[in-house]
Amino acid sequence: MPTTYTDLIADVRRRTKQITLEELKRRVDAGEKTTLVDVRERDEWRAGYIPGAVSLPRGFLEIQAEQKLPDKNAPITLYCAGGTRSALAAATLQELGYTHVETANPGFVRWKDLGFPVEMPPQLSDPQRERYSRHILLPEVGEAGQAKLLQSKVLLLGAGGLGSPAAMYLAAAGVGTLGVVDADVVDASNLQRQIVHATSHVGMAKVESAAKTIAELNPDVKVVGYKERLTSANVERLFADYEIIVDGTDNFPTRYLVNDASVFMGKPVVHGSIFRFDGQVTTFVPERAAKRLGLQEPSPCYRCLYPEPPPPHLAPSCQEAGVLGILCGIIGTLQATEAIKLLLGRGTSLAGRLLTYDSLKMKFRELKLRRSPDCPVCGLKPSITSYVDYEGFCARG
Ligand SMILES: [Zn+2]
Repeated sequence: MPTTYTDLIADVRRRTKQITLEELKRRVDAGEKTTLVDVRERDEWRAGYIPGAVSLPRGFLEIQAEQKLPDKNAPITLYCAGGTRSALAAATLQELGYTHVETANPGFVRWKDLGFPVEMPPQLSDPQRERYSRHILLPEVGEAGQAKLLQSKVLLLGAGGLGSPAAMYLAAAGVGTLGVVDADVVDASNLQRQIVHATSHVGMAKVESAAKTIAELNPDVKVVGYKERLTSANVERLFADYEIIVDGTDNFPTRYLVNDASVFMGKPVVHGSIFRFDGQVTTFVPERAAKRLGLQEPSPCYRCLYPEPPPPHLAPSCQEAGVLGILCGIIGTLQATEAIKLLLGRGTSLAGRLLTYDSLKMKFRELKLRRSPDCPVCGLKPSITSYVDYEGFCARG
């Protein structure tokens, strides 16, 4: 057993493989797949780190190792500033059962002196670290994930029953830009479910009302209002700037328009709908977006399930239907959850699954959705390659 600090370090170094910074740089340049761990303190990390490294300060090593480094047999390379803390961290990881631990020596200080590339972590302000602290505490989000949300752009179709709760939670979560498409004005009968609007906003354009509420909730969020109806003429312009579309509209022409634009433009759509006490949610991830989002395959699209809208005389009646206000909150919030997961690249989305919710029975069910090779828009031989304007059925939101 080593008895002094010098002995301890020497003993750890004897037991631990060491690589040079030149070798580490070669690996980083080649994009080799190893786990590079920076064991310095948070404030050191914030001043820059070696590209591709994950931050795991030595003081949190034992506590966070299993969460951040789940594979004990994966090759792990540690570094610190000068080589001492990485050696001690290597000893700890070996005691915890990690089998392929090595250190890159001497460390970050020399790496920087050599002029090797340094990556800067996302810079959140102190008020942002405070505001989003419960996100940042989640390793699946962290500062990097929160910074990603702040840079993200989500388009909400409709600031109604579904768009309202979705907008509120996306704004609270710090999604940096929220586009809102809605041509309507706030009506007193909206307030039972459309929680982004307030009594004092009755008569105001919904996009303006939503922007006002969100500005009060979270000044980090920029709301871009589009006081217009979605049509084949404006759909590409409206979608162009956004990563994810949250669809809260509820009429057939729009549903098909959104679907076709999603496939043509490669934009994922989180779809929600409600009727009386029932709601459903799914996520459509078209081919081009699937690759970007790291999904193995695209999801079915809406036309895979319903190739054409029903003829107008068979479509649901255009009369106003009742709806349980809270149901909108559940479904819209599920849509916001899906959007956040897609933005963060975490978890399993509802791509290929339809989640249904019956509020009277308080039951969720799940249906598997399948792609159709005969789909007229995303199938093998698509027959629809430009937008189709269907007759308006009903235009409730
Ligand atoms: Zn399809």
